[in-house]
Amino acid sequence: MARILVVEDNPANLKLATFLLESAGHEVLSAPDAEAGLALARGAQPALILMDIQLPGMDGLEATGELKRDGATRGIPVIALTALAMKGDEERILAAGCDGYIAKPIDYRSFLATVGRFTAPRGADQSPR
Ligand code: MN
Repeated sequence: MARILVVEDNPANLKLATFLLESAGHEVLSAPDAEAGLALARGAQPALILMDIQLPGMDGLEATGELKRDGATRGIPVIALTALAMKGDEERILAAGCDGYIAKPIDYRSFLATVGRFTAPRGADQSPR
């Protein structure tokens, strides 16, 4: 059980992610844009952030850069939620400071497996990153 922040502007994707995370026993906080997400990340100190890349205004990669430059949020892992899955996108996402990514449309098995790698207690993680 972890507190997880989902930054996602698409209501259907947010609803699905929230449902899957809550079903797995997690506490979910959400924000519809990067600015609200940054404020929540600083204030609520979630254990993990799921960050949509395409957001109105500041995009998810820019927001991740902000999080990683801020000492208050630098240590929080960020998983990008992305419809981009072309060659080169993974490098771009990781270069922006994201710790991993999940491709949309969301596949519930790989979604929960990826989230699990970032929320498992230390020492219990046997899977390669
Ligand atoms: Mn979006």
